[in-house]
Amino acid sequence: MTRMLRRALPLTSLLLSLAAISPAQTPLPVEAWGKVDGKDVSLYTLKNSAGMEVRITNYGGTITYISVPDRGRKFGDVVLGFDTLEGYTSKTNTSYFGATIGRYANRLAKGTFTLDGHVYHIPTNESGNTLHGGTKGFDKVVWDAKDVSKPGAPALELHYLSPDGEQGFPGNLNVTVIFTVTAKNEVRIEYRAKTDKDTVLNLTNHSYFNLSGPGSGDILDDKVMIAADRFTPVDKTLIPLGTSIPLARTPFDFRKLTVVGARIKEDNEQLKIANGYDQNFVLTQPGALTAVRAKVVDPKSGRVLEVFTDQPGIQFYTGNFLNGANHGVGGAYNFRTAICLETQHYPDSPNQPKFPSSELKPGGEFRHTTIYRFATE
Ligand code: BGC
Repeated sequence: MTRMLRRALPLTSLLLSLAAISPAQTPLPVEAWGKVDGKDVSLYTLKNSAGMEVRITNYGGTITYISVPDRGRKFGDVVLGFDTLEGYTSKTNTSYFGATIGRYANRLAKGTFTLDGHVYHIPTNESGNTLHGGTKGFDKVVWDAKDVSKPGAPALELHYLSPDGEQGFPGNLNVTVIFTVTAKNEVRIEYRAKTDKDTVLNLTNHSYFNLSGPGSGDILDDKVMIAADRFTPVDKTLIPLGTSIPLARTPFDFRKLTVVGARIKEDNEQLKIANGYDQNFVLTQPGALTAVRAKVVDPKSGRVLEVFTDQPGIQFYTGNFLNGANHGVGGAYNFRTAICLETQHYPDSPNQPKFPSSELKPGGEFRHTTIYRFATE
């Protein structure tokens, strides 16, 4: 070895070992998408080494696109959504496609609840009840965004400070949602929130999955599994009756993978009320992030979705309110052309003494993790 080479070596190996400790992390690709409430809205792309690609906008903390391979290794989008900001802000979009839902996901009866002796009123927006946090919930605000990617794990952190009294809810609420795309073809969503006054909280993501692609037809041939023995029946306005009932021997039994459309037209009062499935399933083993809590298998594409969550419930919704009014990526979004598996607290918990509490107190922290994992078979 020449003298010069010997001298150069230590520097080269130092640089190499530094690179091994902190390999350069490419920033998330970001596209300007417009403005809402005078704030910049952007679209971020999170791509893993296997080619899975997820797009998220800080308008509403919304997942607009998830591209994963089918059984022939062909990549394609599996969520309903729009490719412009205007699609999301348009008046015809009343479906919360892909959005982060808060402060209270699903329904609050008559837009009211009592906490510590105070009666709180939230704007009503559906049949005299509040749906998904009121007239301007977390799905319609612009979140602050930060690239928090780590090597091999592209990640976006969204933050929103919801002021005390916003939409009638008590407490200044600091909310953070972190979306990570893992090497295992997962979208991992972590929610954290803190308050300075007693409050109630229920956060979820409202992605509409069609594993054959948005606009590709109905989801009635998909097979679904939900790890639940009971569900919470609802009244005619989809407010829980306050009980949970066993689902064995009913069309709500999805303990084994079952074709969605097999029983959807049965003469069952709950199916008729919701015009399909739109009920909260009570998960067995709540809190267990390690077990599959729900699964969707699409026979057409061979794509499989597995859902992991630490939340007590899953709202299983078969897109019964979709009526073609929205034209998104792939065409018109018609009746029952997507499946939502909204991991959350039970609907209307603040008014239902028998349901797990959705209260958050100062000094405490709300934590929720949900993973959507994609595979094929
Ligand atoms: C509700 C449905 C509602 C849908 C879109 C779901 O969480 O359970 O009833 O139509 O969200 O808002």
